[in-house]
Amino acid sequence: MTIATSPRSHDDVWRAALGELELSVTQPTFETWLKPTCALGLEGDVLLVGTPSAYGKDWLENKLAAEIRRALSRVTLRPMDFEVQVQSRANGRHGAVPPTAPARPAESSNGHHPKVVQTTMTLERPELNPAYTFATYVVGSANKLAYAAANAVAESPGHRFNPLFLYGGVGLGKTHLLQAVGHLLAGRGYRVRYVTTETFTNDLISAIRTQTTEEFRNRYRQVDALLLDDVQFLVGKESTQEEVFHTFNAMHSANRQIIISSDRPPRSLVTLEARLRSRFEGGLIADIQPPDVEMRVAILRSHAETQPIAVPGSVLELLAQRIQSNIRELVGALVQVVGYAQLLHAPLDAQIVDRVLASSAVRRPMPSRDLILHTVADFYRISVEDLTGAKRVQRIVVPRHVAMYLMREDGQMSLPQIGQTLKRDHTTALHGIERIAAQFETDEALRREITAIRERLYRASQ
Ligand code: ADP
Ligand code: MG
Repeated sequence: MTIATSPRSHDDVWRAALGELELSVTQPTFETWLKPTCALGLEGDVLLVGTPSAYGKDWLENKLAAEIRRALSRVTLRPMDFEVQVQSRANGRHGAVPPTAPARPAESSNGHHPKVVQTTMTLERPELNPAYTFATYVVGSANKLAYAAANAVAESPGHRFNPLFLYGGVGLGKTHLLQAVGHLLAGRGYRVRYVTTETFTNDLISAIRTQTTEEFRNRYRQVDALLLDDVQFLVGKESTQEEVFHTFNAMHSANRQIIISSDRPPRSLVTLEARLRSRFEGGLIADIQPPDVEMRVAILRSHAETQPIAVPGSVLELLAQRIQSNIRELVGALVQVVGYAQLLHAPLDAQIVDRVLASSAVRRPMPSRDLILHTVADFYRISVEDLTGAKRVQRIVVPRHVAMYLMREDGQMSLPQIGQTLKRDHTTALHGIERIAAQFETDEALRREITAIRERLYRASQ
């Protein structure tokens, strides 16, 4: 494909670069430092980026500089640099904070007057992503329960379902749902604190270092709702677990709401202290499963509305078919496809989709052939020899097909390579892959199995 040489707007460049960065940095990093930025201008080969805080500027310039330069060069196909300016967020690309329900007379928000709506809201909950609301959250059979539970909690926080424990695989909408509750509650005048377990841990460490643990505790406990994201990262961190335990007790006994997210259910957080695990199990536990193809299209449609150009239905369908198990990748691919089309002044079509998917697949951690074989065999409690052997019983044929499917989808192996690994010819491999791909859409049990296997694969290859 030829690259247009006409001038590109700084917005297009930054949007495309953010699409790249979303896939290459960790999610908390993206959400915290990159999402709240906007492009301010482009001078030659230097992009001017705005960020709401001096802290953000520091991160972008120091910790993330290399990644950002790489992403910029990748989208513009030439070496590029950037400069950062601290800029009030109201001017950024998230300036349009969606209107929320009228604020309740804020008995709790000391000193804040919700009159200056725009600024006050932004200042009061800078940690919530304005895009993660109930309005943009698509509901289907995969997330019905979690959605209903989150709604119930948003209606009467601290009463029913305390804590609410949401779990599901990577990129399936846990953070979105958590923050949707946060928006609703904050909009009604409740004091809400959203925090990732990573940030909680860092805050705690720095509080201990600066001997300000008292302030730290007040900050976390004196809210009406605490949203603690990704508690799987508590595993192995004893002093943080201890602090979470006390925070939990203080809040729970005062009837304040706690919502927790994790990539697995409490019972699978094996090295978590037993007393903390039993607290997590004491309320309602709801799971989020990978969406089926209709829901994936609906999600894309919802996100397409916020894109700067119209996206044809055929492109949405194609993306939904090609990306099956991770909504973040699905949405990330949409943003990238739009960014590329704008950047290259190319039509939004199947060719662009191919190009974006080919380039992002390369950067995903790729599990090796042996890792897939062993992980699948372990999962189904059979041996690797069973997988590569001649037996045709159902107990072994399904895992064999799953292994083929994962080698193709996640391992990016060619059909002959897959065939050779499993001692079959490549048409047999193709047949196996197609069977699983088709069944993935209709068979929820199989979908769960594949998700569980993928979690093991990616945990192992990190
Ligand atoms: P997780 O926290 O589970 O890893 P996120 O909440 O970050 O996943 O979701 C990843 C992306 O997918 C976000 O852009 C989010 O808006 C989008 N998303 C996830 N679930 C849904 C949904 N049900 N409807 C609309 N968008 C969704
Ligand atoms: Mg998340």
